[in-house]
Amino acid sequence: MATTTIKLARLNGEPEIFHSIQGEGVSMGIPSVFVRASLCNLHCIWCDTDYTWNWENTPWKHEKDTDPQYRKFKKEDYLIEMNTDQVAEKIAAIPCPRVIITGGEPLLQDEAWQSLIEHLSLKSSDYYFEVETNGTITPSHELDQKVHQYNVSPKLTNSGNSPTLRINAEALAFFSKSPKVWFKFVVASESDLAEINELITEHCLPRQRILLMPEGRDNATLEKRRLWLAEICREQGFRYSDRLHIQLWGSKRGV
Ligand code: SF4
Repeated sequence: MATTTIKLARLNGEPEIFHSIQGEGVSMGIPSVFVRASLCNLHCIWCDTDYTWNWENTPWKHEKDTDPQYRKFKKEDYLIEMNTDQVAEKIAAIPCPRVIITGGEPLLQDEAWQSLIEHLSLKSSDYYFEVETNGTITPSHELDQKVHQYNVSPKLTNSGNSPTLRINAEALAFFSKSPKVWFKFVVASESDLAEINELITEHCLPRQRILLMPEGRDNATLEKRRLWLAEICREQGFRYSDRLHIQLWGSKRGV
């Protein structure tokens, strides 16, 4: 089996691999190992994993730019390159069969994930692999055969990305037909909802596979939006998801 290199987010000098509980979406509450890819093809202004892409000397804007303490990230401090067999060893040392491949945008490194999954699958047939993606890149057939679930979060106007960057009709056509896909959207306003409904119509997204989550990075904000959004889900046939990790851990990284 081919071993290749993979670019992961670096947290306190180590690759960002951690054992936690899935905090949102259809697998919420399930113990999981998270592996965070570095690099992203989008630049959402509110991104909370901006240390995967907002490198020094890049033009990207972030809402934290107004904070005098905020600095863009030194790539060499926040990106670590490793061999996939080494990453597999680290994951296999954690007694948990559910692996969530997140980012950044993991599908920028399609072949590397194939290799990692192959290494892990040789160690145990119990592994279940979820990929969290922004839905702009179609996975290869080879990777698709190895992945059990996709959590696809297309980005809306409020992300600050241009429509040509954040919407890829071909990739959405792939995901909308895949039985492995759950879509999830973070919703802050009525205009977000209108945009989601436009995307559903334009790209034939399956409404029964769509989860809506209230926007909020603290409990107080989530509290204000929960009932409002739950009512919308009831009326419009969406599935509701809370954001358990924010209730439990706030914005702390790597838990
Ligand atoms: S797609 Fe995800 S990782 Fe990339 S910038 Fe947006 S929120 Fe951040």
